[in-house]
Amino acid sequence: MNYITDKLTKIKDDGLYRELRYIETAQSPRVKILGRDCILLGSNNYLGLCDDYRLKKAAIDAINKYGVGSGGSRLTTGSCDLHKELEKKIACFKGTQGSLVFNTGYMANVGIISALCDNSWVIFSDQLNHASIIDGYRLSGAKLIRYKHCDMNDLIKKIKKYKGINNLIVTDGVFSMDGDIAPLPDIVKIAKEYNMMTMVDDAHATGVIGKHGSGTASYFGLENEIDIIMGTLSKAVASEGGYIAGKQDLIDFLINSARSFIYSTALSPCTIAVSIKSLEIIEKDEERRVNLLATSNWFQNQLKIAGFNVMETKTPIIPIVIGEADIAVKFSNILLSQGIYVPAIRPPSVPRGTSRLRISLMATHSKKDLEEALDKIIETRKKLNVIGRLL
Ligand SMILES: *Cc1c(COP(=O)(O)O)cnc(C)c1O
Repeated sequence: MNYITDKLTKIKDDGLYRELRYIETAQSPRVKILGRDCILLGSNNYLGLCDDYRLKKAAIDAINKYGVGSGGSRLTTGSCDLHKELEKKIACFKGTQGSLVFNTGYMANVGIISALCDNSWVIFSDQLNHASIIDGYRLSGAKLIRYKHCDMNDLIKKIKKYKGINNLIVTDGVFSMDGDIAPLPDIVKIAKEYNMMTMVDDAHATGVIGKHGSGTASYFGLENEIDIIMGTLSKAVASEGGYIAGKQDLIDFLINSARSFIYSTALSPCTIAVSIKSLEIIEKDEERRVNLLATSNWFQNQLKIAGFNVMETKTPIIPIVIGEADIAVKFSNILLSQGIYVPAIRPPSVPRGTSRLRISLMATHSKKDLEEALDKIIETRKKLNVIGRLL
């Protein structure tokens, strides 16, 4: 049986083979990879809180009080008072009745969609939604209709054609690989008109956009208008875990039916303590967020001035779409050899022909870091042009 070898060969032939890269220091603007100093330009640690002393202290204090492992699933012995405190805090932050913490954002998406939807449901999903939404649908028995990215005419056309007994519109709030923001006011309006439920994945919006960084609904002044808000604690919040926020009925329903919640050991108290502290910081430290967005705007302008074809975003995510996977990888490898780490993103994470460098900024990047990175990016593009490749 050469099944696995054949599959691997095919992945390699398509230029889609992926390997792990190991960072030897904290997740911060400057890291070490293979002993070499690099500027990190692709982390989801948007607010730079991953190695913040206050979060480290919260973790250490929680370890001293609670130990390390959680010891059980949430419905058996794994829930501690910190879980309750965090869930209250998230609900407050999002302006919802309640919230429920899952072990990852991936598990939150898979858990809710597979618990809520069955074959009486039709799920209308933006074509660029995160893979965990798709995997939730796969476990659900529902019908999935993909609409063109942020295209409301296409959404309405498809609703008219495919609407079922129960219907859900689901969208990323901030799209992870493009950094653009979903047209939530239109989506809410359409959902009302056609009597459908709405769900927003706030993974990249939490801590980044909206009042105090509370996410996409707040960004558009649509608090209380979204039925299901999902998010992660693993990006700007700089911890781990995912959550669903919404009405208390929804939360009680998930506790009783979301399999990825029920059949998995709870997150450790120290991870939960970090999330609590981090949300506290995010709510207070508006400046960190505002500076990050201003820096992103500046960086995008610099790239444009240098002739790059960047998609403008109002987030710290800045994609440079290159096209073919092998060129994107080459670009990323040359940059790494120059001390700049920007991961190349290829299919299946992005559609074919749109492989890219996904730059993402941290609030803790200095201007000097970013100027150095810009120089190297511009230099590398020149190098690649020299060898006859068009970008
Ligand atoms: C990262 C991400 C998730 C998954 O969250 P994790 O906590 O990393 O499992 C879900 N949705 C989107 C849009 C994401 O970017």
